[in-house]
Amino acid sequence: MASGGANYRNGTQRNSLKGTTTATDRQLSMNSNPSKAALKNKSLSSVGASSGLRKSSPGSLGGGTAKDDAGVPGRVRVAVRLRPRNAEESVADADFADCVELQPEFKRLKLRKNNWDTDTYEFDEVLTEFASQKRVYEVVAKPVVESVLDGYNGTVMAYGQTGTGKTYTLGRLGEEDTADRGIIVRAMEDILADVSLESDSVSVSYLQLYMESLQDLLDPTNDNISIVEDPKSGDVSLPGATLVEIRDQQSFLELLQLGEAHRYAANTRLNTESSRSHALLMVHVKRSVKGRELAHSSQNGNSTNMAKSLRPTLVRKGKLVVVDLAGSERIDKSGSEGHTLEEAKSINLSLSALGKCINALAENSAHVPVRDSKLTRLLRDSFGGTARTSLVITIGPSPRHRGETTSTIMFGQRAMKVENMLKLKEEFDYKSLARKLDIQLDKLIMEHERKQKAFEEEIERITTDTQNQISEAERNYADAMEKERLKYQKDYMESIKKLEEKWMMNQHKLGERKDQMASTAEEVAELQKLLSKETSLRKAAEEEVNNLKSQLAQLKMSEASANSEILKLRKMLEDEAYRKEKLEGEISMLQTQLLQLSFEADETRRRLDRGGPGKVLGGLDSLISQVRPQVNDSVNEEKASIANLFEQVGLQKILSLLEAEDADVRIHAVKVVANLAAEESNQQKIVEAGGLTSLLLLLGSSEDEMIHRVAAGAIANLAMNETNQELILSEGGIRLLSITAANAEDPQTLRMVAGAIANLCGNDKLQNKLRDEGGIKALLGMVKCGHPDVLAQVARGIANFAKCESRASAQGSKTGRSLLIEDGALPWIVQNANNDASPIRRHIELAVCHLAQHEVNAKDMITGGALWELVRISQDCSREDIRTLAHRTLTSSPTFLAELRRLRIDY
Ligand code: ADP
Ligand code: MG
Repeated sequence: MASGGANYRNGTQRNSLKGTTTATDRQLSMNSNPSKAALKNKSLSSVGASSGLRKSSPGSLGGGTAKDDAGVPGRVRVAVRLRPRNAEESVADADFADCVELQPEFKRLKLRKNNWDTDTYEFDEVLTEFASQKRVYEVVAKPVVESVLDGYNGTVMAYGQTGTGKTYTLGRLGEEDTADRGIIVRAMEDILADVSLESDSVSVSYLQLYMESLQDLLDPTNDNISIVEDPKSGDVSLPGATLVEIRDQQSFLELLQLGEAHRYAANTRLNTESSRSHALLMVHVKRSVKGRELAHSSQNGNSTNMAKSLRPTLVRKGKLVVVDLAGSERIDKSGSEGHTLEEAKSINLSLSALGKCINALAENSAHVPVRDSKLTRLLRDSFGGTARTSLVITIGPSPRHRGETTSTIMFGQRAMKVENMLKLKEEFDYKSLARKLDIQLDKLIMEHERKQKAFEEEIERITTDTQNQISEAERNYADAMEKERLKYQKDYMESIKKLEEKWMMNQHKLGERKDQMASTAEEVAELQKLLSKETSLRKAAEEEVNNLKSQLAQLKMSEASANSEILKLRKMLEDEAYRKEKLEGEISMLQTQLLQLSFEADETRRRLDRGGPGKVLGGLDSLISQVRPQVNDSVNEEKASIANLFEQVGLQKILSLLEAEDADVRIHAVKVVANLAAEESNQQKIVEAGGLTSLLLLLGSSEDEMIHRVAAGAIANLAMNETNQELILSEGGIRLLSITAANAEDPQTLRMVAGAIANLCGNDKLQNKLRDEGGIKALLGMVKCGHPDVLAQVARGIANFAKCESRASAQGSKTGRSLLIEDGALPWIVQNANNDASPIRRHIELAVCHLAQHEVNAKDMITGGALWELVRISQDCSREDIRTLAHRTLTSSPTFLAELRRLRIDY
C-alpha cells in the first residue's frame, strides 16, 4: 500500500471522535517532515488568532473556539441542511408531515420512521429550512476559508440527493438578491478581502468529473486531465488544468458563469444532467509572510535576534477545494437514461468509492480504497491530516424520499464517525421559543444584509445630490449678491449726482444774494451735513455688504440663510431709498424757503428805503401775506413747494404783477415766474395764461438788466417746447432777444439769450423765419463778449441749426448754400472748431460735419479753411461717432476729394 493511502486513513482516523487519543502520533506520521507537521498542527489550533478575517461565531462548525478545536482539531465537520418544501411538495405532501424534525438548538435531527417512532441524530450543525445563506456560509465554510488563508488545505463538500440544495448552498451567484449568494461567492469575497494583490496571488481551476473522466470547465477542449501525485508529500495536482488568476470579484463571477456554460454544453454533448457529475472548484491561495519568526515565535514563544536577521520570505500555499457532488440517489441499474449498465456503474463509481473510503475510515479499517476512483484520488489531499474539511449534507423534507434522506444522513453520520444518540423522550418548554427566535434571527440577518446595501447606495445618492444642491445654491447666492450690489451702487451714484446738482443750483442762487446768505448758509450747511451723512451711511452699508460677503465665504451658508441675507440687504436698500426721498423733500422745501427769503429780504429793504413797514406794495404784499404763513410753517413740513405757491396765489395774479408799475414788484414777479417756468410741469400753464407774451413784452419794455436776465432765462426754458418756439417767433421774440443781447453787459444775460435762440435753432420748421428775423446774426453778435458760457450756447445754436439744415438737405426740402454760411458764420466756426473748451469744440465739430454733408457748401468750406478742420476732426476727435461721421463725409464728397488730390494729400 502506498504511504499516501495510510496518510489518508490516519488523518481521518485522527479526526474521528474515537481516534482522538492517538491524534498526535498519527498526525506526525502523515508528513515526511515530522517537525514541520508538528508546527502545522500548532498553527492550526491558533488559526483564530492569526487570521486577519473576522472570526466565525462561537459554536460554528469547526469554529476556532478552544472548546471545539483544542481537543479535536480538523475533524471532518458535518452540517445537515434541510431544504424548504418546494411548490410541488407543498401541494403533493400537504397532508403529510415532513420526514424530519430539526432541533437546531440541540444540533439534533429526528428522522420519522413511522407515526410513532423516530431516530435521533446529532450533527455538528443543524440548519433548518429557514437558515440564511450567510449563516450557512459562516458555520460551514468560513472556518475552512480562514484556514486556507493561513496556509492549510481546506475542503467544502455538499452531499445529498438531487434537488435537495447542494448547488443552491454552494454555487448561487446571488445576482438578483445579494442575500442569496452561496458559499463559493462568499468564500472568494473573503479571500479577496484578506489578500494583498501586490504580494499575494489567488488562482482558480474549475473542473467536472463524469464517468471517470476529468474535464476542464475553463477550456472545454481539455477533457481528459490527468491527476499527478507527489510520491513524497502525497500532494495531488492537476498540471493540465487551466489556472486563472483572480484579481477581483467581478472577473471571478464571470469565470464561474463561463464554467457553467461549458458544463451545460459538455453535458448536452454527453447526454447527461449535471446532477450526474461532480463539479470541483479549486482555489489556490499563495501568500508571502513577512518573516519566518512568526511561525517560530508561535512555536517557541520567543524570537531570537539571529532568527530576525535571517528572515527569508515565507510563502504559504493554501488550497480550497469546493466539491458539488453528484446526486446521491441510486441510478436505475437498467440505464433508463440511455446509458448501458456499464455506463451506469461508471457514473456512480466515484461516489460509491467515496462512500467506501468514508466507511473504511469511519470503521478504522486497515484498507482505505483511495485509488479506486478519481474522486477519492483527488480528495486524498483534502482528507489528509493537513486539511480542514467541512461537509454539508442536504436533505429534502418530503416523506416520499425517506429512503434517500436516510442514506444521506447515514453518510453524514459515518463521516462524523459518531454513533447514534439514544432516543430522547422528554421535551422542553422553551424549545419552541428558541426555535422561533432562531428563525427570526435568520430573517433579520437576510433583511439586514439587503437593507445595508440599499442604505449605502441611498447615502451615496443623497451625498451627490446634496453636494450638487449646495454648489447650485452658492452660485445663485453669489449672482444675486453681485446684482444687488451693482444695483445699489448705481442707485446711490444717481442720487448723489442729483443731490450735487441741486446743491450746485442752490449755491449759485445763494451767490447772487450774498447779503441774504446768513440764514440760508445754515440750511446749506445742513444740506452738506445730510450729504456727508448719506455718504457715511453708504460707506457703512458698503462695509456691511463686504462683511456679509466674507461671512458668506467663510460659513458657506445654505440657500435659505442666503435668501434671508438678501432680504436684509433689500431692506437696507429700501431704507436708503427712503432717506433719499426725504432728502429730496427737504431740498424742495429749501427751495421754497429760498424764494420766500428772497421776498422777505426785498420787502425789508424796501420798507427801510421807504421809511417803514407801513407801506403797501401793490398786490405783492397781499401775495406775500398769503404765502408767508404757509412758507414759514413749511420749515417743519416737507411738502411746501413752488407748486403750492402757484396754486395758492394764482398764476394770473403773478403774471399781472409782471406789468406792475413798481420795478421791485416786477423783479420779484419775474423771478417767481422764472422759477415756475423751470419746472416743466408748469410751463404749459404759464404759456396758456399768456406768461410767455408777458415775458417777451417785459424784455422790450424794461430797462432793468436783472429783469432781462431772469426773463430771458424763463424764455429759454419755455423755448424748449416746439409750440412755444413758434409762439416766440410769431411774437417777434427774435427781435426782442437781439435787442436785449445788444444792450446786455452781464455775460449771464447773454448766456440766457443765446440759450433761448440756440433752442429755437433746433426747430426744423422755423429755420428760414429765424434767419429772416436775424437770429443767426444775433447769435454771432454775442460772440464778441468772449465768455465761454456764452460761446458754448452760440456753438450749440449753430450746431442745432446746421443739423436741421443737413436733415432738410437730405430730405431734399432745402437746396442752395447753408444760411449759416450766407450769414457769415463760417469764419467763427473755423476759428473755434478746435476751441479748448470742450462744450464749444464739441458743438462746432458737429456743426462742421453737418455743413459738410451738403456738397453745395463744399466750395465755401474749402475757401474758408473748414476742410482742414474736417480732416482734423476725422483724425483727432475724441468722440468716435463724430470721427466716423467726419471721415464718411470727407470720403463721400467729390469736391473734398478733388481738393485733397489737387493738394496731393493722401487721404
Ligand atoms: P441539487 O444541486 O442538490 O440538485 P439544487 O441546489 O439545484 O439541488 O436545488 C434544487 C431546487 O431547490 C432549486 O430550485 C433550488 O433553488 C431549491 N432550493 C434548494 N435549497 C433551497 C433552500 N435552502 N431554500 C430555497 N430553495 C432551495
Ligand atoms: Mg446541483
